[in-house]
Amino acid sequence: MTNEPTSSASNGGIRTPGGAILMDGNRLRDEIVAELAATITAAGSPPVCLATVLVGDDGPSQRYVRNKHVQAAKAGMLSRNEVLPADAGQSRVEEVVAALAADPSVHGILVQSPLPTGYDEEAVLTLIPADKDVDGLTSESMGRLVRGLPGLVGCTPLGVMRLLERYGVATSGRRAVVVGRSMLVGLPLSLLLARKGVDATVTIAHSRTNDLEGLCREADIVVGAVGQAGLITAAHVKPGATVIDVGISRTEAGIVGDVDFDAVQAVAGHITPMPGGTGPMTIACLLENTLTAARLQGAFPS
Ligand code: NDP
Repeated sequence: MTNEPTSSASNGGIRTPGGAILMDGNRLRDEIVAELAATITAAGSPPVCLATVLVGDDGPSQRYVRNKHVQAAKAGMLSRNEVLPADAGQSRVEEVVAALAADPSVHGILVQSPLPTGYDEEAVLTLIPADKDVDGLTSESMGRLVRGLPGLVGCTPLGVMRLLERYGVATSGRRAVVVGRSMLVGLPLSLLLARKGVDATVTIAHSRTNDLEGLCREADIVVGAVGQAGLITAAHVKPGATVIDVGISRTEAGIVGDVDFDAVQAVAGHITPMPGGTGPMTIACLLENTLTAARLQGAFPS
């Protein structure tokens, strides 16, 4: 069995061999990046700048950050990368983040997570002003999300919402199960799905949930945000449901998601590939957030 697409579907999408519409994150990322570039050009190309902070030499983190800068350039944005050695120390990292926070030429700040062992990530995050918090992770950003106030929302949850919009997946009155309750993905995504205007009826599942299979099988939308390879099987999925894979597990066979793609694509109505689904959307939404941040700071026309 292969996840090679075989035929075309609505919304310019393609179908999997089992007939599900493939929600192509690479394609949507490219569309969003092109739209951002067009918006910036149309505004006379005012500088919009993303700054990343990378501490240590973790391979995947280096790749993620590099990719963010490549895509930022394609979107017509400036970007800076502050690289610090793993033993830089808490106060040096805080100094760098505080300087970016105070610099009016920097509109978005992202501290690449996880920081090496021994760092207090929460203390670093609190230094990022809400209007520059392009990862949407600070208490202020989370508070704004809960209260429905304008602000910056986490890139991965926002990317899931953009995929649902782009592929015309109905949410109003539909049942959604989000598996995972982290501050990074599960919790903010649950809030976004339940928001007025989106109007899904949301259940948050986690490691203590009983009968995950039965719970998911009742849902119109299932999101796996756990990091356990193949957790979501065909038995978890109602025929025609939308299945979104956020989880990432690194195996000898490469990157694997929470969803058993080969089995689930034969049952689902829409499905994301892994890789090539939510990952590229996380980067697209980081750049979308950077433009929103510039607007919130009055550095870009609304
Ligand atoms: P966390 O480890 O913070 O959260 C994982 C969640 O999964 C927890 O809420 C945990 O429950 C729950 N969980 C663990 N085991 C089970 C189980 N057997 N059944 C149901 N729920 C379970 O991870 P993150 O939220 O930060 O990330 C989740 C995954 O998404 C990771 O694989 C990460 O690499 C990936 N990721 C992918 C991104 C992308 O762009 N595609 C971006 C960010 C993350 P409990 O709370 O009870 O412990």
